[in-house]
Amino acid sequence: MEDLSSSVENLRHKYREIFKTSVEEIKKRVEALKPVDCGDIFDSYPENSNGRIWQKTVLKMFDEDISKEIYRKWSEILQYRKEFSCKGCAVCCNLACSEFSPDELKEKAKNSDNFATQFLSVFVPYKSKDEAKKVYPEYIEMLEKNKEENVYFYHCPKLNENKRCSDYENRPKICRDFPDNPLAILPETCGFYPWKQEVEPVALMLHSMLEIIEYYKEHINAGT
Ligand code: SF4
Ligand code: SF4
Repeated sequence: MEDLSSSVENLRHKYREIFKTSVEEIKKRVEALKPVDCGDIFDSYPENSNGRIWQKTVLKMFDEDISKEIYRKWSEILQYRKEFSCKGCAVCCNLACSEFSPDELKEKAKNSDNFATQFLSVFVPYKSKDEAKKVYPEYIEMLEKNKEENVYFYHCPKLNENKRCSDYENRPKICRDFPDNPLAILPETCGFYPWKQEVEPVALMLHSMLEIIEYYKEHINAGT
């Protein structure tokens, strides 16, 4: 069985490979729209020039074609998730991670961040990393090994002494929706693990496309 650390490293490797392919694919689509007398898409072009029209056409393609394709495929992935179900293993209840500290989450919730509000309504922070480590040592070790410093650990007080949800039928939306992203790290005991395995390559490709499009948008606008 693959350990957690190597599965994360494999995921990163896969992502790097998929990212390179997506860069080439998007570049091809950008170049296919290029007028003959233009240089690089990131050059600065005067308003109404062919270069500027090209840049606007590319930005439109990102918004109207590629973003819609990404959204459609992502919706299909989430739709397919409905064919899988939670097995109640309670790993995600016992160890929820966030890049935000409890104070940061409270601040976000005060500013109407819906996810932060839901998260804080369910989870409380572990007193220390060591306490969290007792629950899922392999996961914490993997984070330490990868020098992921800004991770805070939480757990749900509704777990009973048998490590099962004490009110499973009425569990809140955030629990019913988990995992809403196939790129989340899931334990092999999770009922959604086979879903993740199956859709992960497509999800990685969509994620890489979003990153690349953001890069284009930022740099095309910076060059104007
Ligand atoms: S409410 Fe139940 S399902 Fe949700 S995190 Fe807590 S124990 Fe888990
Ligand atoms: S890890 Fe997966 S199977 Fe286990 S409780 Fe969470 S969602 Fe359910």
